[in-house]
Amino acid sequence: MSSDNILLDVKGLKKHFPVRKGLLRRVVAQVKAVDGVDMYIKEGETLGLVGESGCGKTTTGRSILRLIEPTAGEIRFKSKKLGREVDVAAASRKTLKALRRDMQIIFQDPYSSLNPRMTVGSIVGEPLLVHGIARGQEREERVRELLAAVGLKPDHMKRYPHEFSGGQRQRIGVARALALDPQLIVADEPVSALDVSIQAQVLNLLESLQGEFGLTYLFVAHDLSVVKHISDRVAVMYLGKIVELAVTEELFGHPKHPYTEALMSAVPVADPDYNVERILLEGDVPSPVNPPSGCYFHPRCHYAKDICKTEEPIYRDLGDEHFVKCHFADELHLRPVVSE
Ligand code: SF4
Repeated sequence: MSSDNILLDVKGLKKHFPVRKGLLRRVVAQVKAVDGVDMYIKEGETLGLVGESGCGKTTTGRSILRLIEPTAGEIRFKSKKLGREVDVAAASRKTLKALRRDMQIIFQDPYSSLNPRMTVGSIVGEPLLVHGIARGQEREERVRELLAAVGLKPDHMKRYPHEFSGGQRQRIGVARALALDPQLIVADEPVSALDVSIQAQVLNLLESLQGEFGLTYLFVAHDLSVVKHISDRVAVMYLGKIVELAVTEELFGHPKHPYTEALMSAVPVADPDYNVERILLEGDVPSPVNPPSGCYFHPRCHYAKDICKTEEPIYRDLGDEHFVKCHFADELHLRPVVSE
């Protein structure tokens, strides 16, 4: 793998939240929300990050942007505006402010992520003000361009978020994320709060903007069919760790991790003759405060053997950028999802 086209390289990323108890608020345990994530994202690609709720995918996205402070790890990012590679995890406050221009986020909930007291023009134009990029007429012109890019009209500038539908509000969120001409956008479940009919419109918008502005996406979602539609590669997360990562067709056609197989068995397929038996995962996701020994997935895995209870599998490359964290990845014959 050449490192030339890698925009973001994450190594050993951890985010642990302390659990405090008692009068003295002593730390009695750690919630290991993200527990050693390794992944890279290439320029211009979309990496989907998928898993059940509580698996740590949103925390991973926010730690990468340093919206929350990572506990450990490296986040190496090739910043165009700074003209060099930066470790986001160790960046100073000043460097971080400069990096904000390169790395942006689209939030999940278009209802609560927009300030109801600000007009759309102020919301979309705010980053331009904060970073001293444009003021007055110039700023207004730029906001107009951004609204046009996301399919909104210039006269929408004067309106307030409550006057818009869910899909339109998410378009406003996208316009705000684009304002600083970023390289990387973390899209944190950007369509999961929207009606299914609107989801496709927003996904198509994100795809066309990617081509137009040369964007790179980390696309966080719990819905595998959405991730399959938009991603070049997909990472599957379980209990704070990536358990499988591969090119989208490879992951869906040749899954190598039993958790991926179980997740995919729940994906609806548009073929009446395709009769797949859904794999029901027994038990709840274990607590990230006290994860199981060995392979974190072993209490729910249909293929677990003794070694799985005691030894943690290594996250390894099986070739062609197919990474997996399972002792038996080479031996198991897991069920793919047929392509529609
Ligand atoms: Fe299942 Fe064992 Fe593989 Fe873990 S290492 S996924 S328990 S087979």
